[in-house]
Amino acid sequence: MPLSTLGRSDWVSIMSPILQASLHKAGVCRSFPRVVVFAPLKYQGLGVLHPFALQVFHHLSVLMRHSANRTKTGQYLEANLQSHQLGTGTSFPLLQQEPTNTGILASETWLKRVWIELDSLGIRVEISSPPLSLHCADDRLLMDIFIDALVDQEDLLWLNWCRQFLQVTTLSELITADGCSLTAASLAGQPSGHFVPSYSWPRTRRPGPSHWDLWRRVLSQAVLRPYCRRRRLLRLLGPWSDSLDRWTWLLSRTSSILFHRSASNLAIYRPINSRSHKTFRRDLHHTWTGPLPGDVQRASVNLHPRTAYVTITGTAPVDPPDPESLPASILHLWRELAADMDDDWGWVPEYIYIEGDEQVLLAALEKGKLRVISDASFKQQVGTAAVQLRTRRGGHVIWIKCRTPGKREDQSAYRSELNGLLAGILVASWLCLQLKSLDKPRVRVACDGIAALRQVFSTWPLSPTAPHFVLLSSIREALRVSNISWAEQHVVGHADRTKTWQQMSWWERQNSEVDDIAQGYADELIATDDTIARNPKFFSEPCALYIDNEKVSCLALASVDEAVVLPELMDYWAAKGRLAPETFRLVDWPVVHRAMKSLKPAKQRFVTKHTVGMCGVSKFRKRWGLDSKNRCPLCGLEEDHLHVPRCPSDRAKTQWQLLLQELQEWFQSTTTATPIAQFLGALLCTICTPSNQPQTQTRWYRLHGISSSALTQVCEAQLRLAPQCLLEGLIAHGWADLQQQFYRSCGSRRSGNLWAANLSRQLTLIGKGMWKHPNDVFHSDDNIVHQQRATALDRRIHAEFEMGLRDLPRNLRPAIRRSGLVEVLRLPLADKEEWVLVISEARRKIRQSLAGSYD
Ligand SMILES: [Zn+2]
Repeated sequence: MPLSTLGRSDWVSIMSPILQASLHKAGVCRSFPRVVVFAPLKYQGLGVLHPFALQVFHHLSVLMRHSANRTKTGQYLEANLQSHQLGTGTSFPLLQQEPTNTGILASETWLKRVWIELDSLGIRVEISSPPLSLHCADDRLLMDIFIDALVDQEDLLWLNWCRQFLQVTTLSELITADGCSLTAASLAGQPSGHFVPSYSWPRTRRPGPSHWDLWRRVLSQAVLRPYCRRRRLLRLLGPWSDSLDRWTWLLSRTSSILFHRSASNLAIYRPINSRSHKTFRRDLHHTWTGPLPGDVQRASVNLHPRTAYVTITGTAPVDPPDPESLPASILHLWRELAADMDDDWGWVPEYIYIEGDEQVLLAALEKGKLRVISDASFKQQVGTAAVQLRTRRGGHVIWIKCRTPGKREDQSAYRSELNGLLAGILVASWLCLQLKSLDKPRVRVACDGIAALRQVFSTWPLSPTAPHFVLLSSIREALRVSNISWAEQHVVGHADRTKTWQQMSWWERQNSEVDDIAQGYADELIATDDTIARNPKFFSEPCALYIDNEKVSCLALASVDEAVVLPELMDYWAAKGRLAPETFRLVDWPVVHRAMKSLKPAKQRFVTKHTVGMCGVSKFRKRWGLDSKNRCPLCGLEEDHLHVPRCPSDRAKTQWQLLLQELQEWFQSTTTATPIAQFLGALLCTICTPSNQPQTQTRWYRLHGISSSALTQVCEAQLRLAPQCLLEGLIAHGWADLQQQFYRSCGSRRSGNLWAANLSRQLTLIGKGMWKHPNDVFHSDDNIVHQQRATALDRRIHAEFEMGLRDLPRNLRPAIRRSGLVEVLRLPLADKEEWVLVISEARRKIRQSLAGSYD
């Protein structure tokens, strides 16, 4: 499956014969909507995993696992990505581009198919890959220039072909060294030969003349001054930021020599006369062997075919000498990186402060005596960590304090431990950048989370489905690129609870200190209600996964399945009028999921069938040939799943009251808050009397003095869901929290989430109970159709008795003679039917034979 790239419809056709056979066996109609068959249990589907989702999951798993673990396949993938990026010539790696813009430029590979597949599902994978280099200030990628010029897709393809033939990616590769004009060669479709190629380009056939016309036209319109014959650029470029080694032509004005770099040597060109320093001639007797003069500058030239002459078309100023690099403090680096960050990109600790002298710590690092001690705190879904980098003696310390990035639901104590380790490793690596020696110093990292330490410092391959894969892979990458030999140490946490300060080891004391800081920081965040952390991509993250534009912490089959199935399912429900997309988001799906999981498989299937309406009601019994007419067995009206709780017959109403009574008893047994119980009870009643709904409800919850805005909000959300949804267990977000608050106020330790899941389950049981009642009646003599049949049968029994023993064979005469009329009338319906059938059939046969003998 990782290699197959079949489409969604292909997989549906493959599954079709399997489902035809298996759905029937599972007691589900063969024509059951496939979108609900493939919907997960959480969304009340049948939970058959869509094979297309499994394929996408395997694709993501391959991309993430191999790029994070730097395997051979990972290297191949990276090479493939870079080759695609060179092929499309755009600023982003292939997987971050829009297929509608650049899909036409990419060659047909597995990666391209996966890219298009993921894009169609709103899934994005960002694998770290070096961008295409720009070579001077204001330089731009040619393909970006063409896309901005709004050329159509086909022209873009031809322009890309021309670009690949010239083996260029940026505008700066087409211009003169002074950054003022396009070279004549570049417009004529000839390689300029000014640069040593930076990439290995595939061999490309030369495009035809019409394509070069297009190239000239678009390029001239996009970058040249209109009506200027000297090919002057609209916006001049420069100064150059690339290396001099890239250039093949270099001019030294002091020695009046133009150098030409080739693979084997440096050729020398000298001016043709002492006055002009523009035209040069090859000195065939000498080559340059020593180092280049210090004043060489980049030059662009025009070659004169079949002669040894060249004319200089432009030169760039001599590069200024490199500024002396100052010894950078970690604080300097930290601020620089922090300035580079935005909401989605980059993470550094929020607080770093140095106590004492950074240089002393640097010397300790060089001697292998630096120690990193980290600890984390986690309370009320807020994770923080604190770290110190110090030596065993002396008061020189780097203190770090940070909050754990990531979504609220991903936060845990383990994640915070990992985050503390990342912060310590990052800062130690920054410190190491200041070392002049190339030897790898040794740094010992200590923490009390043994699981976090093991995961970080082991070398076994990481699985993308492991919790906090993102953080783990980022830490492993930070360890890999650092020039430090790391050692881990486990410290017993919270030793201060069992030991005195004197009894504690040095490590335990340091751990206790950072623990206090981490806890203090968490308290501070909670007190200021600053509980939502950023969820950015880490600087060292090898591979980030985004589903629905949100970065996820690890790969999960369930979330991929949702991305595949949910859009179709939401469309289906919206079309059927069950749930509109905006009301869909109001439902507390995790609670519904918990409720569904607690049901037995047969009941789960019932709920699913009930949501679609394809269950054992007369409407479908008639379609399936089990019943001659679509009639409710209780009231005789047409019966579909919506009729069941709304049946006007007295028996249905009694059953309804019984089930509501059971629900109220359940509310009492679970100590449900009275306003909640009363609201839901009243809302359920509106199923039978819909006209009362909005006014009654509004008046109702105000009358009961529910002033809390939270309660009002949840009630309003529930009111936006159709009351019928209650019978399918759909409850709005917020009920669990409200009940949790109520439990807390009563001093109860019960869980609001569990209560909500049980409530959802209880509501589905009401739906089932209402359906079961007419179904039982259908199979009993109380069925209104059966009653009508019984009346007709009674009439025939009376008639048979009136006829007496006439035309009756001998063996059947006791049936009339011995059993009296009353006794026969008391028989069950089926027996009566049989009795009438036997007697009437026997008489018919006798009469026929008599008629035959008369003939
Ligand atoms: Zn009815």
